[in-house]
Amino acid sequence: MPRPERTAAILVAAGRGLRAGAGGPKQYRELGGQTVIFRAMQAFSRHPDIFAVQPVVNPDDAALFNEAVAGLRYKPPANGGATRQASVHAGLEALAADKPDIVLIHDAARPFVTSAVISRAIDAAGRTGAAVPAIQVTDTIKQVDDTGNVEATPERARLRIAQTPQAFRFDVILDAHRRAARDGRSDFTDDAALAEWAGLTVATFEGDPANMKLTTPEDFIREEARLAAQLGDIRTGTGYDVHAFGDGDHLMLCGVRVPHVRGFLAHSDGDVGLHALVDAILGALADGDIGSHFPPSDPQWKGAASDKFLKYAVDRVAARGGRIANLEVTMICERPKIGPLRDVMRARIAEITGLNISRVAVKATTSERLGFTGREEGIAATASATIRLPWGE
Ligand code: MG
Repeated sequence: MPRPERTAAILVAAGRGLRAGAGGPKQYRELGGQTVIFRAMQAFSRHPDIFAVQPVVNPDDAALFNEAVAGLRYKPPANGGATRQASVHAGLEALAADKPDIVLIHDAARPFVTSAVISRAIDAAGRTGAAVPAIQVTDTIKQVDDTGNVEATPERARLRIAQTPQAFRFDVILDAHRRAARDGRSDFTDDAALAEWAGLTVATFEGDPANMKLTTPEDFIREEARLAAQLGDIRTGTGYDVHAFGDGDHLMLCGVRVPHVRGFLAHSDGDVGLHALVDAILGALADGDIGSHFPPSDPQWKGAASDKFLKYAVDRVAARGGRIANLEVTMICERPKIGPLRDVMRARIAEITGLNISRVAVKATTSERLGFTGREEGIAATASATIRLPWGE
């Protein structure tokens, strides 16, 4: 049942992530084949109880941002400030006209936030007005002085690690941020600390140990390995396609326009290479074939550019939480000669699929003048795809 409150989310992504080492701001780096910020944002963009997602980004990162979160639902980004606190304040002001009842404030560097944590955050804010996700501390924590000597050992049972999303009644946290800015305070490292300063009681709710913040290069290495282990269900598929020659002056082969003395007789553009690849991917997913997804009887596919079909198959893999490990296609024809076009075709397939070119192979053979390909009546292509899916299906 939809909740009565209207909930918005702020995604704080304006930091430079310097502790995570070289390679640019950490939120735009890839982890398990997706950028960190895409992972963090999709949980909010796809949550049924969140009506608006307000990113806050560094204006220098606009191009990185747009590319990283393509396809997700969000408001035009607000420009970040000099501190995390200033960035959150900018996000709150950008949301003010939308009048949310509740706002969740989340760090883009926590990509493993789940729908369940978000639901708990909304519940907790509705109940208490201000709440943070917290997890138990398992190590004993020492408080030290300036020289590193222990000056206190806080009682472990009362310590919690605070995470995000932190959740607040919108008008209350906006007011607290405005007061802090007016008072010249800019040093709060989380919104709960600012809320405490403003005199609010901040409750806790159950966090999630997996909802960790990526900070160091080691965090990236460890999480990459963990995600790879999750995607251990390896599937392969094969595809085969043929198109006959007809009149024309060019062929579409592996997404590349190739001048030729013939054209293809085909309902779509007749790109046998891409059609074989689509069937290989659908085969690996056990998800029908190109004809069942794009019936030749459907007029909307007449003359269609086949890169659409390939992109569609790639999206089917992503929708299952999977990744393509490699694609391979073999073109069978006497002419045109594929060898000189091989790397152009690989680059085009890599572009359509978003794969690194090292994961795309294009091969070619003739049929020694035998059969229909030998007589140059048409072209055949075979393909294979290997994909990695999450365990559990
Ligand atoms: Mg075909």
